[in-house]
Amino acid sequence: MNKIIAKSGTEYYPTIGLEIHAEMKTKTKMFCRCKNDPFNSEPNTHICPVCTGQPGALPFVNKQACKNVMKVGVALGSDLADFSEFDRKNYFYPDIPKAYQISQYQYPLVSGGELVGVGLERIHMEEDTATSIHKGDRTLVDYNRSSVPLMELVTLPVIHDADTAVRFARELQLLLRTLGVGGASLEKGEMRIEANVSVSTVKPKEVFDGDFSNFGTKTEVKNMSSFKMVRNAIEYEIARQIAILEGESNDVLVQETRGWDDNKGRTFSQRSKESADDYRYFPDPDIPKYRFSDLPEFSREALQKELPELPWDKRERYARDFGIKSEDIEFYLQNPQFDTLFGEATAKLSSQDEYKKLSNYISTDLAGFEKSNKDEHKGNLENISGGELAEMVQMIDRGELSSRGAKDMLLEMYKNGGTAQSIAEKKNLIQKSDEGEIKKIVEQVIAENQEQVAQYKAGEEKLLQYFIGQGMKLSKGSANPGVLAKLFKQML
Ligand code: ADP
Ligand code: MG
Ligand code: ZN
Repeated sequence: MNKIIAKSGTEYYPTIGLEIHAEMKTKTKMFCRCKNDPFNSEPNTHICPVCTGQPGALPFVNKQACKNVMKVGVALGSDLADFSEFDRKNYFYPDIPKAYQISQYQYPLVSGGELVGVGLERIHMEEDTATSIHKGDRTLVDYNRSSVPLMELVTLPVIHDADTAVRFARELQLLLRTLGVGGASLEKGEMRIEANVSVSTVKPKEVFDGDFSNFGTKTEVKNMSSFKMVRNAIEYEIARQIAILEGESNDVLVQETRGWDDNKGRTFSQRSKESADDYRYFPDPDIPKYRFSDLPEFSREALQKELPELPWDKRERYARDFGIKSEDIEFYLQNPQFDTLFGEATAKLSSQDEYKKLSNYISTDLAGFEKSNKDEHKGNLENISGGELAEMVQMIDRGELSSRGAKDMLLEMYKNGGTAQSIAEKKNLIQKSDEGEIKKIVEQVIAENQEQVAQYKAGEEKLLQYFIGQGMKLSKGSANPGVLAKLFKQML
């Protein structure tokens, strides 16, 4: 259990519960047929009477959006609701044209479950708000985002440090992307993380039992648009609260919403927290109620069938079958294009040595080209086929290609495509292992370096590397360094 000891000697235990909103990827919005495309169009082009809150317009439920959320629930081992009811959450704001948001209060689609050891309270379905654009002294409202399907996930208050909070949020992002249910970009605002933070001198129980009474006063921190900001905001807020309780600060500790100011590196008070009652939730009479047991496509079995391999299963499989290091595994989980290449190539290889070699070229060299801004590294992953990457690895195994040559080959594949064989020929990368031919090179190096030969014979064995280097130079990189080494040892 994370514990912070203040200068006074008092021990503080931080507690954190996360509320995470994520836009669901669907063709259309949550309650109408407008296109779900909040970022790419002229303002107010994907709107209709329903999502702009015109009187008398009737909403209907987007089946795909509900499925997306329930798939997340299946992946996390949660309970799925049988009864579906939507509620009105009443408040006024220009970005909420009906003066209420359609949400779920009593009957969330998903309850319980866990991710990275953090228990969930619930995941419910709601609609996103419009976006406000502030221009000088005017505020413009774009309703393209109004009523885009939004899931809200709430964790139990079982997180006690910023690292775990970030790990949870990262893993959720990965899951949403893997399931294909949401883009989940923090920067774009597709995924928004709010952290409820409190500190207490009472040590929390190892297993949360529903009792909040020993936690301290919580604040809810928002406006973090990167994982780094989430970490910094939580750490700042824990320190701020402790400073108040220690009497070292003039701030006050009240239940409120605070924003993260990334430039100043601190949180600031935004508004004191309404209690849930202020929203006057009540069931939306315009939206039909459903029983999922009447809808076979929503059964756990049916949803389970639609799930791809989950990140944690893939981690286990990659470690077991390929023996590659965990950084590489994370790299493939985060980068589907590279993962596809790795998958295609491994299908044609058969040993862990080969998989590891392959993985190094992909996750180090190829990823390096993609990241680089240099002109000489301009290329396209689509030029490369996994099969040719496998061929390249096999050429190395057969001694036909040096590791230096492989890097040149990889860059050529990346820039212009082509098969491993054709590139090797065109670029003269075929490594010569024929001893007769290499012997001539070795003889020439010995003849031209009599002084070093004498030193070597006198015991300076380090010079072997020098001779191999000379041999590589003389053969313009085409001689197999292993064969060179063997022949030098013999002939000296
Ligand atoms: P609100 O209605 O203010 O949004 P909720 O009861 O819905 O509050 O809780 C929101 C989140 O805050 C949940 O993740 C919950 O576990 C967490 N939480 C509640 N009380 C505390 C507390 N004292 N300290 C830390 N987290 C808390
Ligand atoms: Mg809240
Ligand atoms: Zn609409």
